[in-house]
Parts: sequence; structure tokens; C-alpha cells
Amino acid sequence: MATKTLHDLFVNDLRDIYSAEHQLTRALPKLASAATNSELKQGFQQHLEETRAQVDRLDRVFETLEIASRGQTCAAMEGLLAEVPQLIELGLEPGALDAALIAAAQKVEHYEIAAYGTLCTWAKAMNHDRVLTLLLEILAEEKAADEKLTQLAKTTINTVALQRARPA
Ligand code: ZN
Ligand code: FE
Ligand code: FE
Ligand code: FE
Repeated sequence: MATKTLHDLFVNDLRDIYSAEHQLTRALPKLASAATNSELKQGFQQHLEETRAQVDRLDRVFETLEIASRGQTCAAMEGLLAEVPQLIELGLEPGALDAALIAAAQKVEHYEIAAYGTLCTWAKAMNHDRVLTLLLEILAEEKAADEKLTQLAKTTINTVALQRARPA
């Protein structure tokens, strides 16, 4: 077997995140339907649209690199998403359930931010400028999605959860 390079590792990780994004296009509708707060529901639906566009950007990344556009199962995303039904089955009251969904979604966004941050560093190091531009666009959306979830948690959901947690 030929010795693998940083470029091979770059392709490997692009295929991993491509799988992760595909998994998210299937999971985000479930998060949206489980959410009770309407802003949170809309937030998940909006990020679903962004995620579909991210898959298209990754297709352009593979085209630019002249390699096959395919995924390689991201086990980490499978693990993070496997926790979602477990949270739903806890039988939490609405405010607490929304808090749980936000927490799960932020773990996903943080995984993506770490993955795209690394991919951007490698793309820059190897002068893949067009690819870097596409990856930076995705990274900015992941950071904005994470920030929006933090704001939702702070302004509405945590308040509701705390009020109901107080003894009557
Ligand atoms: Zn390269
Ligand atoms: Fe994404
Ligand atoms: Fe992964
Ligand atoms: Fe995301």
C-alpha cells in the first residue's frame, strides 16, 4: 500500500463530514418535529435548508478536487444522533425537552465546527483556495447556527424550564 499523505487525510475527512451532513439532513426534520418552541422548530427547519446547501457545496469541493463525491460513515455523528431518541423517550415536559434538543444540537454543531475548522486549516496549508472558500462558508453557517441555539437557550427555553422546575 502506498504511503498516505496529508492530502489523503484531507479527502478522508471530507468524506467523513459529507456522511455527517447527509445524516443531518435526515435527523433535522426529527428535531424540528420534536421541538415545542416555535422559534426552535423554525431554527431546525432553517438549518435543514442550510445543511442541504452544505451538501451541495461539498459536492463542488469534490468536483474541484476531481475526486468521487461519496461519504464514508461518520461514526461520531451516528453516536451523537443516537442520543436524540433517548432524550425524547425520557418523557420530559416541553421546556425541558426543548432544552435537551438544544443541548444535543449544540454537540452536533460543535463537532461540525471542529471538523470544518481542521479542514479549512488543511485546505489553506495545501493551497486549495477554491475549496477553502467553500469550506469557510460552511464553517460560518455552523458557527451562526451554534450561536442562535445559545441565544434561544438563554432567552426563552432555559427560563421556561427553570420556572417549571420550581416547587409549586
Ligand atoms: Zn491537497
Ligand atoms: Fe452542517
Ligand atoms: Fe466523523
Ligand atoms: Fe450544522
